[in-house]
Amino acid sequence: MLEIIDVSRRFGDFVALNKVNLHIQSGEFFTLLGPSGCGKTTLLRLIAGFDQADQGEILLDGKSITALTPEQRPIHTVFQSYALFPHMTVAENIGFPLRMANIAKPDIDLMVRSILEDVRLPDKINHYPDELSGGQKQRIAIARALVNRPRLLLLDEPLSALDAKLREQMQIELINLQKEVGITFVYVTHDQGEALALSHRIAVMNKGEISQIDEPSILYSCPDNRFVADFIGHCNLLDATVISVGDQNLRISIQGLGELDACTNPEITLSPGDSCALTLRPEKIRLAAQLDAAAGEAQFNGRVHDMLYLGDVTVYIIELANGVLIEAMLANDAPGRTRLFDSGDAVQIAWRTDAGHLVP
Ligand code: ATP
Repeated sequence: MLEIIDVSRRFGDFVALNKVNLHIQSGEFFTLLGPSGCGKTTLLRLIAGFDQADQGEILLDGKSITALTPEQRPIHTVFQSYALFPHMTVAENIGFPLRMANIAKPDIDLMVRSILEDVRLPDKINHYPDELSGGQKQRIAIARALVNRPRLLLLDEPLSALDAKLREQMQIELINLQKEVGITFVYVTHDQGEALALSHRIAVMNKGEISQIDEPSILYSCPDNRFVADFIGHCNLLDATVISVGDQNLRISIQGLGELDACTNPEITLSPGDSCALTLRPEKIRLAAQLDAAAGEAQFNGRVHDMLYLGDVTVYIIELANGVLIEAMLANDAPGRTRLFDSGDAVQIAWRTDAGHLVP
């Protein structure tokens, strides 16, 4: 539905976007995720028409929208700052784009009531913005952006002004709202947890380029490169060298740990002698004072170096031979017990071959 083709944007000598290509499907909840300054907002502004690309083309439903003004595009944007008119009631705020489009008053009333049901705030219809909480203001801003059914809704960090609890509640509401209205959402965030929770697919951006586009679970479990592995969730990254390539697994060597088996994505080509990194999620690591040997596992002795108690889990930093540090995570699910080990305890760790994922 939306095609971004070879889009670049420079500010003076600085390349904010470098030949970005993206295809977004109709009805998708699609997220642009990346660290501050990677070009997410710049790309969103180009889609909205607030800014022009130096190079490339943007197509909506197969037609170029590059030359259209923001008003001519069937695209609306929700900003972090809500941008509600303070002197207008909720009904007047939401009805504003409909009045601009000369829609008859009885129709406006019906459409406003209907979208207020969708955002679950029908009783706030006659309130003013300063009588609403942050979360309610953002829901009204979203309602205003959705009321005349755009083809595409752009959301630029819409939840970042809300506290953590409310943000989580709003995430669930956004997922449900998007399902209900069926409109394509393009969402910008630097919060990887939020992106994983909300999106059908995510484009991870780094320095003006796309690093990987995939479903959340694939991005998390099979990253294509070091940047994505490191940016999304907690991840151990161990420098390795490929020894040999088999049908199922690759044999690698890690300084201090010796040789072990690991796997990778079918699209990633690694050859003997290549440098790579073993990515290993902390929750995939078994940790105990004494482990039974299991087939298909790499197993090492270590010592607890540091630990972080996080309530539901404890993160243990384990020091292996030659000073290799590995982060492991254990659920604190045993009643009455908050941690299993103390700093300095001798432990063993192990992970399955298919938990160790290689990236170039
Ligand atoms: P954040 O999460 O902090 O909002 P972002 O990924 O949205 O970051 P952008 O706002 O797209 O980043 O900016 C990308 C880069 O382009 C930044 O380094 C920014 O300083 C630069 N930039 C953006 N707009 C302009 C401008 N009008 N003039 C000069 N540089 C700009």
